[in-house]
Amino acid sequence: MAEQNRDPQAGYQPETLAVRAGTARSQFNEHSEAMYLTSSFVFDSAAQAAARFSGDEPGNVYSRFTNPTVAAFQERLAALEGGEAAVATASGMSSILALIMAHLSAGDHIVASNSLFGATLQLFNNILARFGVETTTVAQTDVGAWEAAIRPNTKLFFLETPSNPLTEIADIQALSAVAHAKGILVAVDNCFCTPILQRPLDLGADLVVHSATKYLDGQGRVLGGAVVGARQFTDPVLAFLRTAGPTLSAFNAWVLLKGMETLQIRMEAQSTRALQLAQWLEAHPKVARVFYPGLASHPQHALAMRQQKGGGAIVSFEVKGGRSEAWRVVDSCALLSITANLGDTKTTLTHPASTTHGRISPEARAAAGIGEGLLRVAVGLEALVDLQADLERGLSRL
Ligand SMILES: *Cc1c(COP(=O)(O)O)cnc(C)c1O
Repeated sequence: MAEQNRDPQAGYQPETLAVRAGTARSQFNEHSEAMYLTSSFVFDSAAQAAARFSGDEPGNVYSRFTNPTVAAFQERLAALEGGEAAVATASGMSSILALIMAHLSAGDHIVASNSLFGATLQLFNNILARFGVETTTVAQTDVGAWEAAIRPNTKLFFLETPSNPLTEIADIQALSAVAHAKGILVAVDNCFCTPILQRPLDLGADLVVHSATKYLDGQGRVLGGAVVGARQFTDPVLAFLRTAGPTLSAFNAWVLLKGMETLQIRMEAQSTRALQLAQWLEAHPKVARVFYPGLASHPQHALAMRQQKGGGAIVSFEVKGGRSEAWRVVDSCALLSITANLGDTKTTLTHPASTTHGRISPEARAAAGIGEGLLRVAVGLEALVDLQADLERGLSRL
């Protein structure tokens, strides 16, 4: 197999890596990445089979843990994140599970932000707790609270920044310094920014996890995930995957490779539209408040602009009023999709209090700042004027 463009240290810019990193041509010299839909690989001899299984000879064995299309996706993402290696998984949730299973044991403790993705909090609080791994959740923005939550058995800080839906920013550099002083690993869910807007490993984090389902695909087609970092931290994740099997399919890896080729231009365009939409909403008489890191009014605007290359594509806002006013805006939309997914070229609209955050108690929701009038827009690639007109239809009726 002729190999090309495989060196992530070649000094290429991100948009070049997004198109070229991880390219490995077969004997047919195809230009677009080949899709290797095969569960297993054939050996030349019994001796080679033995050497491949033991790892003495590198090469493909079985697609639960080795597949050339998946490897191409892993190399491309690792190059973009500035990590030594990546391990692809079947979904974003299985990347978080694989990271935990690889690095923690019963009796260990996690400190995590209380504004994590809902399924991540459920994984920690409802499932890991049954296996003797305890989690303390703290305010995303309060570095002192993270430090105060550390116990002798704390093994991991887990954060996700900006948060969903309020776009609160965790200070990756400050939290990494606090954690590393106590030998604690730092993992960052980089789903919202992608490596185009934020590179947590450069800021001191040890591991990055992704829901590739979102912006890496970018067109709402497949599920996927990955864990990225130094090989010493990703090798145990690969060992877990080899044994437990929440593996990314070669087909999904191929779709993600194609999606990543346009990652830079999509993130820039969606981020630009999101900022313009946030500015328009902030000036709207029927809007009480806008949450967007790119706005000067965001409480952590300075930190966000230091840590990120843009505000991202998620804008949340509170309409004046409560649930019925928010729902009127949702139901007046003809263009925006009423769906919880994000990261798509199609703009989506969600009422968090009755959907993504509907299963938590009203008191907990209020404490988390998720009001009944709050709406979340995941901005896609449609024209700004069309997005504005769609939202204006409902807003003008309030
Ligand atoms: C969607 C999402 C996940 C879970 O990813 P799946 O691919 O749906 O399993 C994890 N973290 C964040 C921030 C997400 O938005």
